[in-house]
Amino acid sequence: MSDKKVIIIGAGIAGLCVGSYLQMNGYNTEIFELHNTPGGLCTSWERGDYIFDGCIHSLGGTNPNYNLYKYWNELINMEDLEFKFWDVLGQFEEKGTIVKIHSDPEKLKNELLSIAPEDEKFIKLFPLIIQGATDKRNFVKKAVNWALRNIGKRNLNLNKAAVNTAKEIQQLDSKAARWIASDTIRELESEAVQRRIKR
Ligand SMILES: Cc1cc2nc3c(=O)[nH]c(=O)nc-3n(C[C@H](O)[C@H](O)[C@H](O)COP(=O)(O)OP(=O)(O)OC[C@H]3O[C@@H](n4cnc5c(N)ncnc54)[C@H](O)[C@@H]3O)c2cc1C
Repeated sequence: MSDKKVIIIGAGIAGLCVGSYLQMNGYNTEIFELHNTPGGLCTSWERGDYIFDGCIHSLGGTNPNYNLYKYWNELINMEDLEFKFWDVLGQFEEKGTIVKIHSDPEKLKNELLSIAPEDEKFIKLFPLIIQGATDKRNFVKKAVNWALRNIGKRNLNLNKAAVNTAKEIQQLDSKAARWIASDTIRELESEAVQRRIKR
């Protein structure tokens, strides 16, 4: 153990993680927390007969193939946790139409097809794009990125679907996938693209 000591202010997830990593690397640590319980935003408390649980409802990186999984595993034994995998990750509403973001790419494809059959040739490409996103070859990486960005610039529905696909790709344990995803999200969520497709 090092004779150096690190003082950490706040026992939220960030402070607790920093404390754990410093201790793993041989440092002494002390965490100061102003509340009477650790966890910060990610905690629960009781008042009377009620439990107020503001804690995490969804966690990225529960799939062992995802990049975040290995980081979680450094701090907690992921195999000890029991996860509930939801079929629908979220939904958005546009002019009265509700679009569900299914976790299964095949179901997502069918949902999008039922709403916008005219976009069939693009929607069918999403599962293929996810498949190709981990290919390290430079031209494949660029082609996947180009395809996703250009599909996402066609209209609002395809934009949301492409951004969600990019967010899924971002979780994959691959440098190529992370580059494709961040570049795509940056462009598709930019003010210029959003203004153009909302016209
Ligand atoms: C309702 C809700 C639902 C959420 N759901 C999800 C979810 O489903 N999935 C997800 O990934 N994330 C979710 N989040 C976000 C996630 O909980 C937070 O991003 C994360 O907990 C932030 O951690 P933190 O350590 O950065 O900050 P905080 O949790 O804010 O921790 C900061 C800590 O520092 C302490 N502190 C501050 N100032 C001082 C001081 N001067 N001295 C001593 N102590 C101090 C505070 O008391 C606190 O304990 C949710 C957040 C909320 C509020």
